[in-house]
Order: sequence, then C-alpha cells, then structure tokens
Amino acid sequence: MQKITDDIMRLCLKLPEDLKLEFLAGQYIDIITDDNQHRSFSIANAPHESDHIELHIRHVTGGEYTDYLFHDMPLNTELQLEGPLGTFYLRENSTRPIILMGGGTGFAPLKGILEHAFHIGVTRPMHLFWGVRKHQDLYLDDQPREWMQQHANFQYTPVLSEPGPDWQGETGYVHEVVLQHYPDIKNSDVYMSGPPKMIDSGRDLFLEHGLTMDYLYSDAFEFNSHPGMGLEE
Ligand SMILES: Cc1cc2nc3c(=O)[nH]c(=O)nc-3n(C[C@H](O)[C@H](O)[C@H](O)COP(=O)(O)OP(=O)(O)OC[C@H]3O[C@@H](n4cnc5c(N)ncnc54)[C@H](O)[C@@H]3O)c2cc1C
Repeated sequence: MQKITDDIMRLCLKLPEDLKLEFLAGQYIDIITDDNQHRSFSIANAPHESDHIELHIRHVTGGEYTDYLFHDMPLNTELQLEGPLGTFYLRENSTRPIILMGGGTGFAPLKGILEHAFHIGVTRPMHLFWGVRKHQDLYLDDQPREWMQQHANFQYTPVLSEPGPDWQGETGYVHEVVLQHYPDIKNSDVYMSGPPKMIDSGRDLFLEHGLTMDYLYSDAFEFNSHPGMGLEE
C-alpha cells in the first residue's frame, strides 16, 4: 500500500501461489467487500508481470470502500476479487496511430496498455494525454517521461485544468487539447479512461470530427459498479 499523493494509493495485490490471473492489459477487477458489494478498479500493470495486480485508487470523500482502504485496511488483508473484466484493451491488429486519453486515475489502465505495447514491440505512434486538475495530481509523471526517453514512437502531454502560475505545459480540458494536436483524429485509434464526464465530452467531440465508434474504446469510471456496469465500447 503506497500512498502516492494525499488522495491516491498505489495498491499491489499478491495473488495466491497457485493462481495466475490471465488478463488483457487495460481490463479491470472488482473487489468484493465483506457485505458483497462490488468496487471496480483498473489493472495498472501488464500481463507479462501477472504475479501481482497493481491498482491506482483515488480516495472518494465519504466513499464507503475507499474510506476504509485509506484509513483502516491493514497491510496483508486478504481480498476477494472477481475478474478480469471488461473489453478495454489494446487492439493489436490495427495499424493506425494510437491516442490514449486518461483523466486522473484513468492513467491506470493506460499504463497497463502502454507497458504491454512496449513489451510486444508496437511501433505505431502512441501519444498519451493525461488530464488532471493540478500538477501534483500527475501522480506518476516520471513514468511517461521515462518512456519518452526510451521509445521514439511515444509522446506524452500532461494537461492541467487548474494550473498554478509555474506551469509551462498544456492547460484546459484534455479532450480539447487532444483535438488541437490531432485535428485529423478520425485516422487514429482512441483509448479513453477516467471520469464519465470526460469520456462523454471526448466521445462527442471526436465523433463530431469524423472518428467512428469502431475506433473509439473507453472505460468510464462510474461509481458503485456492479458486475457488467460501467463498461462501454
Ligand atoms: C470499469 C471501472 C474501472 C474503474 N477503475 C478505477 C481505477 O482504476 N481507479 C479509481 O480510483 N477508480 C476507478 N473506478 C471508480 C471506482 O470504482 C469508484 O471510485 C469506487 O467504486 C468508489 O467506491 P467507494 O465505496 O469509496 O464509494 P461509494 O461509497 O460507492 O460512493 C459514495 C459516493 O461518492 C461518490 N463517488 C463514488 N465514486 C466516485 C467517483 N469515482 N467519482 C466521483 N464521485 C464518486 C458518489 O456520490 C457516491 O454516491 C472505476 C470504475 C469502473 C466502473
């Protein structure tokens, strides 16, 4: 349990010795609480490191499960999981450039997808846009910066909606920044994950500019999810 910022925890789950979770990068799992409720979280690591599951969890103020996780859950707690779930994963057969747009902890499944893409040697251009409110919300900013050094086909653009005076980078709504960079977005595969409002706005804008649903993949972080909920394609 690593608290990366005041309200984000990186949680690494160790699987039982005799169990291997076969998942596709970008999928999610449900944690099943003691009173049988489901809480969905995206897998932030890639399948080639499947001896554990990495999650990036935002503390929802007043949220039943995330309150427990941030304040009361002891290390080495045994959790019940269901998964892998969802159809948000990399379409490996496509030849089009890849745009990845994440809001907040929507970075998590995109991290899994990118680590997988680097692992299998994807050479298509890949551009990650990470939208958050403030600079400190870019909780693993070093990671995509490192990928940029290591992979010539990868670009990273963080976008702040509430920048401080020192911020030199992109500002505003992340989906609008994506479109400024890619007015011809209809030629790319677009992967979006994070708050439902961001996903809805991104979808509307990109479809308006000629992208079709065939090339738009998304996972909206709805809350209080139940099996099968919150998944869109
Ligand atoms: C497919 C999928 C993947 C997800 N992946 C992630 C992930 O990787 N990381 C992550 O941090 N979250 C993720 N979420 C969202 C996460 O599931 C919820 O934030 C979590 O279930 C909240 O649980 P809780 O018990 O703390 O809140 P609850 O007790 O269920 O909610 C209490 C109240 O808080 C508010 N609330 C709850 N969740 C949110 C939210 N996400 N945004 C805004 N308001 C909220 C609502 O008003 C709600 O009524 C994902 C959701 C889905 C559907």
